[in-house]
Amino acid sequence: MAGPKSSSEGIRGNDVMDKIVSLCKRRGFIYQSSEIYGGINGFWDYGPLGAELKRNIKELWWNDMIRQRDDVVGLEATIIMHPQIWKASGHVDTFMDMMVECPLTNRRFRADQVEPQSGTVYHFKGAVEAAAALKNLREISNKDRLDARTRDRLDSDEAEVLKLLQSSGIPPNKWDDVLQDLTRTFPETDCRSRGVGIGEISVLVRAGEHASTAWKRATEFYRKQGLHIPFLEQPIIEQVKDSTAFNPENGVKLSAPRPFNLMFKTYVGPVDVPPLHRYTFEDPQQSEEWFERFNESQKNVAYLRPETAQAIFAQFKNVLETSRQKVPFGIAQVGKAFRNEVTPRNYTFRSREFEQMELEYFIKPDEAIEAISGRVAGSSELDPQPSTLNLQPTWGWEAWHKYWVEERIRFYESVGLPRTTLVEYWQKPAELAHYAKACVDILYKFPFSKRDEKGELMGEELEGIAARGDFDLSQHQRFSGKPMIVFDEELKAAWPKLDPAKQTELKERYYQSRFKYLKKEGEALERADAEPLVREIKLAQAEKLARADAEAFTKGYYVPHVIEPSAGVDRLALALICNAYAEDQAPDEKGKMESRVVMRFHPRIAPIKVAVFPLLKNRPELVKKAREVRDLLRPHMNVFYDDAGAIGRRYRRQDEAGTPFGVTIDFDTLGEKRPELQDTVTLRDRDTMKQERVKIGDLLPLLREKTR
Ligand code: ATP
Repeated sequence: MAGPKSSSEGIRGNDVMDKIVSLCKRRGFIYQSSEIYGGINGFWDYGPLGAELKRNIKELWWNDMIRQRDDVVGLEATIIMHPQIWKASGHVDTFMDMMVECPLTNRRFRADQVEPQSGTVYHFKGAVEAAAALKNLREISNKDRLDARTRDRLDSDEAEVLKLLQSSGIPPNKWDDVLQDLTRTFPETDCRSRGVGIGEISVLVRAGEHASTAWKRATEFYRKQGLHIPFLEQPIIEQVKDSTAFNPENGVKLSAPRPFNLMFKTYVGPVDVPPLHRYTFEDPQQSEEWFERFNESQKNVAYLRPETAQAIFAQFKNVLETSRQKVPFGIAQVGKAFRNEVTPRNYTFRSREFEQMELEYFIKPDEAIEAISGRVAGSSELDPQPSTLNLQPTWGWEAWHKYWVEERIRFYESVGLPRTTLVEYWQKPAELAHYAKACVDILYKFPFSKRDEKGELMGEELEGIAARGDFDLSQHQRFSGKPMIVFDEELKAAWPKLDPAKQTELKERYYQSRFKYLKKEGEALERADAEPLVREIKLAQAEKLARADAEAFTKGYYVPHVIEPSAGVDRLALALICNAYAEDQAPDEKGKMESRVVMRFHPRIAPIKVAVFPLLKNRPELVKKAREVRDLLRPHMNVFYDDAGAIGRRYRRQDEAGTPFGVTIDFDTLGEKRPELQDTVTLRDRDTMKQERVKIGDLLPLLREKTR
């Protein structure tokens, strides 16, 4: 049979995403959550194939990160944890996105995700009800005494208002009713002036768009404010370039940015949050009761975890004590995380419920490594392909960080994402979190990624690998009051052997790094303009604690540092789906070429590994044999049995599902005509579409090898 004629390269672009979304629905990879009720934004369900794909991702990650290593162990913690965890981690106070809102559509955007736009801006200061404007204009009795310019303006205003009213469809004898209506709806306002200053609105008109769109949007806006037929004040006009202040969908100026915490809040236990409407706040007793009950309920507030990592820190000591691990070692976890994203978008890429695969790899501080090994090896000393076999005791945080970046890229390659589709993005110092020493984002070039000046896809984050120092464990030590330090036998043994000058130098460096962390609280108070005495006390305390930490260090104690590779299951699933999608030409039953959609998943990750087909479903001998083959393979891999329809159609279905191999049981298998072929089957390769004859006895080892 002919091989594939073209790859997916030619169809990369914006519309490929639509094709992928449609295939995912059609074939049962991904559905919109709660679709029968209209869906819910930012939530996605995985159908039969998607569920298998995700399971494969998680299993391969678990296997790679834990089972194939001696130095990483697993954890499965709860989604809801003690709320103090999120205080300590900083999520309660700082896990915010700046949010902007469109005053016309009320759509919200993340301030940093608004596309820059250029064009002409029309600033409308306000509007009045057209009928009121007409009445006012007609009531001006001294028009003759006005200068000619003003008279002209009033006349043109009157003509415009009349035009507006006439085109509104309301008969002239009802124009006054509009005003009465308004008086009834807004008794507290003077209907004649209502509208002036009820809100300013600015609209950006891009090159190529007609200026009337500005009036259209502004009119919609003032209608929303309650005006029937808004008559707009003359706008002020201005040119803007690359401004992110306007809604990209309609050009309306967005609200000023305000912070929005991304954590989902809930209540633990049978908490009765008092419904406001049942209370009369004029009655002081009732209002007091409401506040009391409200405050009581706040004690039960909890959060759905926005990341899985914090449980690892919270359980660090338990794992250390029960797993017989010693630093350096890691704790890994896979599980759900929740973020109330302001704008979920790009299909499943930014969801509100998703899964993470996170590792916290605890390492010795560089000062400890230097004390033990005499030196600290940097990242330049890493082997080009570091593996678990050549982990070195001399590695400092830089080498460990680089090691994990390499490890993770190797993992992505092993599941079928070529290195050319990935970008290793080193965050710039200004982009780093205050505690982070370095962070690398691994990006995948999704079809929806932005392009650089050269037209190259820039990629979107699949995973972040951060060197977080000892910040996390230190925070939990501070908030919980429980020590997070470890005892390092090697450090204790090495210390007395160092010469005194080295001891002083290392102790001082350790002190400085602890003081840098511990004085943060005092510095925060300084920024908050707190009482100078309180600040001083806090700083003195920090110094004392840091001195104590440095003293403990000389006896073998320290707070471990951490490298955190943190990946998203759903983003990887989407990357694999995008990467697998291809269209090519394949011959149909009669050998005529037709176009085919094929998901070229790496066999290791493919949802179904092999499909088993009896050539005809009405021949019991074929069906019996095919079922035997299915049962032979099933304990070892995910097998799909399909006897419905023409064989070519069955192949196509599996091509779209991304099944790498198809096994067909035909008459030769039964040895009817050619006895030498008895108990052989055809094995079809999804990508080359080549078929080979294989003995049933060889099938299992062959397929196991190919899908490993
Ligand atoms: P982004 O900048 O895209 O919001 P982030 O830097 O906040 O991501 P992290 O907090 O580092 O993300 O989370 C680690 C990983 O979790 C990300 O690399 C990503 O794979 C995944 N992830 C984070 N937020 C989402 C989301 N809303 N939907 C799906 N996956 C997510």
